[in-house]
Amino acid sequence: MSNRTFTMIKPDATRKGNTGAILQMINAAGFRIVAMKMVHLSEAKAGEFYAVHAQRPFYGELVGFMSSGPITAAILEKDNAVEDFRKLIGSTNPADAAEGTIRKLFAASIGENAVHGSDSDENAKIEGDFFFSKLEQF
Ligand code: GDP
Repeated sequence: MSNRTFTMIKPDATRKGNTGAILQMINAAGFRIVAMKMVHLSEAKAGEFYAVHAQRPFYGELVGFMSSGPITAAILEKDNAVEDFRKLIGSTNPADAAEGTIRKLFAASIGENAVHGSDSDENAKIEGDFFFSKLEQF
């Protein structure tokens, strides 16, 4: 599975109409979309997805934001997918993100930062399976 990662285009980017531009950057960087859907997460589902952050001070804000509107969830395939995708999206805080990264171009703040990218192969598999059944992964 080390050639796959998981992403979400977050509610801020969806609201601003940036979904298409972000997907275009993802494809242009050599990632193949092997699963994709648009979903409006309930607070409960967003809380489950981010359970690892439950003790962090921003957890409530994060769950509220991620359930505030639709997202696009996708599984992406490429050699070295997890690391290369983290490079493509840039730092968590867009103020620190490198020029030309998705977060530099589309994110407004550390909370509303346009996209999610898995941080390990193990989490990429867990996160992809959270959204997609085997039949929906190509
Ligand atoms: P990531 O792996 O780059 O997404 O960053 P983290 O795993 O550290 O955090 C997960 C998500 O929580 C981030 O993408 C942000 O949406 C959110 N987040 C992180 N730090 C903060 C913060 O200080 N305030 C708020 N409101 N959200 C945060």
